[in-house]
Amino acid sequence: MPNRGDHLECLRSKDYDVLILGGGINGAGVARDLALRANTTGTPLRIALIEKNHFASGTSGKNSQLIHGGLRYLKYFEFHLVREALRERATLLRIAPHLVAPQPFLIPLYEPFAKVFYGAGLTLYDALAGKRNVARHRGISAAELRSMEPAMEPRHLRGAQLFFDCQVNSARLVLDNIFDAARLGAIVVNYVEAEDVSPTLVQARDTLTGDRFEINARQVVDSTGAWAASDNLRLVRGSHLILPRLNQSDNAIAHFDPQGRVVFLIPWGSRRQLTLVGTTDVDHNASPDEVQISAEETEYLTDVVRRLYPKADTTPISTYSSLRPLIKTSASSATSTSREHRIWRAESGIVHIAGGKYTTYRSMSEEATDLVCRDLFPALTGQCTTATTVISGRPDLPSPAEAAQHEMAQTARDCLYVNTYLGYESRTIPEPLAQQLEETFPARQSAQR
Ligand SMILES: Cc1cc2nc3c(=O)[nH]c(=O)nc-3n(C[C@H](O)[C@H](O)[C@H](O)COP(=O)(O)OP(=O)(O)OC[C@H]3O[C@@H](n4cnc5c(N)ncnc54)[C@H](O)[C@@H]3O)c2cc1C
Repeated sequence: MPNRGDHLECLRSKDYDVLILGGGINGAGVARDLALRANTTGTPLRIALIEKNHFASGTSGKNSQLIHGGLRYLKYFEFHLVREALRERATLLRIAPHLVAPQPFLIPLYEPFAKVFYGAGLTLYDALAGKRNVARHRGISAAELRSMEPAMEPRHLRGAQLFFDCQVNSARLVLDNIFDAARLGAIVVNYVEAEDVSPTLVQARDTLTGDRFEINARQVVDSTGAWAASDNLRLVRGSHLILPRLNQSDNAIAHFDPQGRVVFLIPWGSRRQLTLVGTTDVDHNASPDEVQISAEETEYLTDVVRRLYPKADTTPISTYSSLRPLIKTSASSATSTSREHRIWRAESGIVHIAGGKYTTYRSMSEEATDLVCRDLFPALTGQCTTATTVISGRPDLPSPAEAAQHEMAQTARDCLYVNTYLGYESRTIPEPLAQQLEETFPARQSAQR
């Protein structure tokens, strides 16, 4: 497994063919795709990836944890986007079965025509998934719903639609892509920030020690997400509440509000003892480093929970927020702004990846990697094997010592909020875990900060 010290040493002492900026899912996907192409074709490619915090500490580790087609995009006639996402959903189930699993969802129905409306949408959704569908949707009567979800507010409830998407541990899938790339020869270093970027030279800073150094690369790929210096991006904040488990059945709940926003209540946590509630859609005009839930977002999400489960405990155990870096369009609302992605080579020669969804990261990475290869390594163009190569990784969570030794966690925070998510699970860290964290991290922190 990669060791940060060794990888940092290589980063500082060698030149690279490709330098990827940003250790979210898109950077991770490009690193793994390139490393696999180099390996399967026997091409000696020098690949490096740097991340200014811990890997997956940006949007990719703080999203809704869903691998989904995006049912609500049907409303905007984005059939192409939904079909691509459904295809990728099937691919990820195949290549990351240790982290991606089918998740049933209930859409509670209140209006007289809702059953027909959502039934038609879900028939189309199933058709777009085609042979790769997880399972077909079906209608649920009011009586069946009451026995599945006895705590759900029964007034005006006419039944539900049951459909299927997938759940993922989104931080761990980023880590597994990055460490797979490292096993195949890529140099991957967290806590290194690109401070100044020119087409073939990046001024970097080790954010643990403050040391500055230069990295030469023939090709730079900018996958810094919401941090990309681009006038093309619209930053939209999404927040989640983590509550004690709300519902009885193992289904997630998809609540559609009249504005077309969907709030998911998803069974979550290491023992599925929690409910992840989200998300919101709010334009974010502050720095991407300052992202937290607002009182209005908390109120909005709590209100949805109270309407569905009036007796629930709605005091959050924890919350998280992150930013969607969406491509600017003429859409007036944050909710209706398209989730299409854009991959392009700027005049400077730098390749950029922006927009899109976590679900489609593999196909976006394939497109970006093809663009990188087209001019520099033509023999590698079209040689993508990520759709058929299983991603290595463990299905369980690492201990703090394992996260530090094998997964480059540098701080207790990294371990709690990225490698394991255990920090979100309780208001105070349980004693045995607190002790393990203290044993693993204090010396490391004082030595490196
Ligand atoms: C609230 C919310 C919920 C979502 N839910 C889902 C979902 O359920 N399913 C789905 O398919 N999609 C979802 N999405 C979309 C999806 O999560 C994002 O499209 C995706 O994670 C973006 O990945 P990324 O790698 O581009 O960005 P990021 O994950 O943000 O990665 C960019 C990385 O670059 C690093 N970086 C920035 N500047 C520098 C620098 N100068 N030097 C080095 N590193 C740098 C950052 O620290 C960061 O880690 C959601 C988005 C949001 C906001």
